[in-house]
Amino acid sequence: MLNVVCIGSGYVGSVTGAALAAVGHPTTVVDVDERKVALLRQGKSPIYEPGLESLIQALIGKTLFADTSYEPVRTADVVFIAVGTPSKKDGTADLVHIREAAAGIGRHLDPDRFTVIVNKSTVPVGTAGLVASVIERETGLKAERHFTVVSNPEFLREGYALEDVFFPDRIVIGSSHPVGLQRMRELYSPWMQRSGYERFAKHFRFEVDPSRPLPKYFETDCSSSEMIKYAANAFLAVKISYINEIARLCEALGSNVKDVAAGMGMDTRIGDKFLEVSSGWSGSCFPKDTAELLATSEKYGIELSVVRSSVQSNRQMHDYVVQKLRRQLKSMNGRTVGIWGVTFKPNTDDARQTQAAHIVRELLDLGAYVQVHDPQGMAMFREMNPDLPIRYCESAYEAADRADAVILLTHWREYGQLRWEEVAARMNRLYVLDTRNMLDSERLWQYRIQVEGLGNSQRA
Ligand code: NAD
Repeated sequence: MLNVVCIGSGYVGSVTGAALAAVGHPTTVVDVDERKVALLRQGKSPIYEPGLESLIQALIGKTLFADTSYEPVRTADVVFIAVGTPSKKDGTADLVHIREAAAGIGRHLDPDRFTVIVNKSTVPVGTAGLVASVIERETGLKAERHFTVVSNPEFLREGYALEDVFFPDRIVIGSSHPVGLQRMRELYSPWMQRSGYERFAKHFRFEVDPSRPLPKYFETDCSSSEMIKYAANAFLAVKISYINEIARLCEALGSNVKDVAAGMGMDTRIGDKFLEVSSGWSGSCFPKDTAELLATSEKYGIELSVVRSSVQSNRQMHDYVVQKLRRQLKSMNGRTVGIWGVTFKPNTDDARQTQAAHIVRELLDLGAYVQVHDPQGMAMFREMNPDLPIRYCESAYEAADRADAVILLTHWREYGQLRWEEVAARMNRLYVLDTRNMLDSERLWQYRIQVEGLGNSQRA
């Protein structure tokens, strides 16, 4: 087993650290945020992610440790960097946390042992070289002689993070250093054996298909590996924007986008994933990763017009939701609008850069009162948008109170299981705009609630 340190205990670091500890690698998660480290030490999860807390509880003090100091780097074989890489104003990735993490690692490297440093954060092409040069400057040590920097992008989805980390489709490694490559193979060897796979499935009681293939283990050079992450995220953003545009056209022509997407997805060249209609993509990754890709492509004089259009189309989709509501309510002045869901997807508390913020702002500008509910994301939404004069509600029912309309933005399962009689009794005007096409419009019509979906999926 290898000694591992993971710098950063956020959505990626805490899950990665716990997964590595679960397969037996003694792993210390290091974070500058004392609150997160204290939570981890108590066996609690610093983020909301289904299944994570019980995993941490089972491992903490055994193979999983947490620290605010970089001291454990001294005895590490592998050091992951999983700190945030938010957007700067110009769209490029802000690498300040990466630089700080690299400097911290450098100050604690043992010159007598070869350490493999792994960029798990989503970072622009060339960042492995940047990390290496920060460490060289900090320490006088030489990259490739005393340490090497490997790229290993993360593809987990919040809300399904454990499943994705234990059963990934692929593991991408970017390195040309023999020790770097060898150590990563050793680190991930439990993932590459059927026995390891079955053990994860049994232990975590995931419903996994036993015939599911093992992950593909893909080794490439650092720069291609770094690009894979951006190219993949931008592609997924394009796919969502595309189906959302088709949804708008379906509405104009009377087709049903749900069936259109189903029919498209049966083609294995297209695939049935990421063809679900929504109010647009958002969250902590797609907006910043498309922005970084576009900013970098501009710097190098390469026009990524497909990605650029997808970003534009996505904004139009946010606006389209508000337009749809305006068609129903006409003047928005003084109207009360409830919002169900402020996170960019269910089963996460991550409310960074969500479409909810954009839509709420537009509604407020039009003179509406807005009351929001989310099962997990309200604290972060409030923190990210402190200026919004809106009402934060304890329940979905409260958000429907005296509402002239409710917009369902996030497909939390509980929004499909509400006591509709109570919702109807509370609402002023019984209209729900279901941007995820998840509600049963016929059933809700029994309570006189009019449900309108996107792309004619639920006809109003
Ligand atoms: P996050 O903000 O949740 O976590 C980052 C953590 O790093 C924070 O807890 C912060 O306190 C800590 N940190 C910052 N600087 C530090 C330092 N110098 N030393 C120690 N700790 C430090 O971010 P995240 O969502 O986990 O994302 C991390 C990276 O992974 C980003 O590059 C992101 O794009 C990428 N990624 C995220 C996801 C996702 O779903 N969230 C998926 C794939 C990839």
